[in-house]
Amino acid sequence: MVAFSAQGHLNPMLRLGKRLISHGLHVTIATTHLQPGRRLFKPSSSSSATGHDIDFLFYSDGLDGRKVDIDTFMDSLSQHGPTNLTKLIHQKRLCCIVSNPFVPWAANVAHDLGIPCAMLWIQPVALYAVYYRYYRNLNPFPTLTDPDLTVNLPGLPPLRTEDLPSFVLPTNTFGAFSKLFSEMFGAMEKHASWVLANSFHALEADVIINSSKDLFPVVPVGPLVDPSLLGKGEEEEADGAVNLWEVDHSCMEWLDEQAAGSVVYVSFGSLATLSADQSASLERALKEGRWPFVWVVKGTEAGELSTSSGGGQGIVVAWAPQTKVLAHRAVGCFVTHGGWNSTLEAVAAGVPMVVYPQWSDQPTNAKLVEDVFGVGVRVRENGDVKMVVGSEEMGRAIREVMDGPKSEQIKGNARRLKIAAGEAVAAGGEGTSKVSVRKFVDEIVGR
Ligand code: UDP
Repeated sequence: MVAFSAQGHLNPMLRLGKRLISHGLHVTIATTHLQPGRRLFKPSSSSSATGHDIDFLFYSDGLDGRKVDIDTFMDSLSQHGPTNLTKLIHQKRLCCIVSNPFVPWAANVAHDLGIPCAMLWIQPVALYAVYYRYYRNLNPFPTLTDPDLTVNLPGLPPLRTEDLPSFVLPTNTFGAFSKLFSEMFGAMEKHASWVLANSFHALEADVIINSSKDLFPVVPVGPLVDPSLLGKGEEEEADGAVNLWEVDHSCMEWLDEQAAGSVVYVSFGSLATLSADQSASLERALKEGRWPFVWVVKGTEAGELSTSSGGGQGIVVAWAPQTKVLAHRAVGCFVTHGGWNSTLEAVAAGVPMVVYPQWSDQPTNAKLVEDVFGVGVRVRENGDVKMVVGSEEMGRAIREVMDGPKSEQIKGNARRLKIAAGEAVAAGGEGTSKVSVRKFVDEIVGR
């Protein structure tokens, strides 16, 4: 498996790897060297019932630890990655390479080695459909002359500009990602034998069925976080996560003392950081609503916030054992940026969400949470999407999920989807994702 070295990419790869070893395969995850001073906090045991461990291999991105902008990084990775990866793996007896969308050239490496390649799509199938149709010009999307065009795609609700991923908007300034997506769909159509997705049939049935009609077929194998393991495991992550930061477990004991369903868990994933204004209105909303909270604040600001904002009502950590927190009976609401791993972890744990999306796929994930899954609300100011919303609006969104008029319906949907998530992957069962993983393994082993 070739993983892009980011938290949200490593977790689904590692979790799929665990599924594959449970079917008797050996799994190696290759990723680029970490920045100097960084380390990978691996699960205490990534082995399966078969006794195999997941090996990690690190190859050079050609930058030797130099910090550069994202365009330079992506260029260097695609220039040096193929040769450096090939050198590292040429003596291994591989039956398949599973690549990740951000390393599209891995499909070419597999082709040159004469082995099949699968791609693991780490966002919802809805996003696969949106990007595919955008980069292959299959449907009209907003342009500079028609910036407010509503996008109608098979199997999805109408998507307004505010619901679309930022990379397909005419205002997108991240050229590296446009290039990447084009390369990805090219490599996929040319060399990939499978596209596996971290989703499940019951969650996205409409878009899965519609996409299979005219797009390169996508096979849901998720949720890759294992619902039966959520929250279990003593120390490190029994859910198969790997961490780029050290996990602070101190919030777990504190959670034990809180009433069931009373706590708001706040986390914006590994990349997004809130501006001072965004943090201030969220902090005010939590204070005014008197909800106990666990808030993940990455980096040095954590200390400051814990004295100013924790103050008995809440607890601030720099990096939480997220799946354990979500599975804790005290947690009643997840205020999230809507990253797909976080969203799916909350779905699998049955926790309703308040989504405050920042960029990338997050606006579309927010739309799914609110209008397709019905398990939460998107933060709005007087009905409009804004980057900074006031504390009253933040409080209103949290209240809507915790105990507002719609909360019973939202909680009911969350309970139902939690059950469906478990059924899709249950060990010993015949759930849709379980069967698909088995078929995938049979095919690569049988070749
Ligand atoms: N995560 C965690 N502890 C934290 C915050 C996040 O373990 O305090 C994990 C979370 O469980 C998820 C991943 O980091 O698996 C974040 O991925 P996501 O796709 O949600 O967001 P990204 O970081 O890619 O924006």
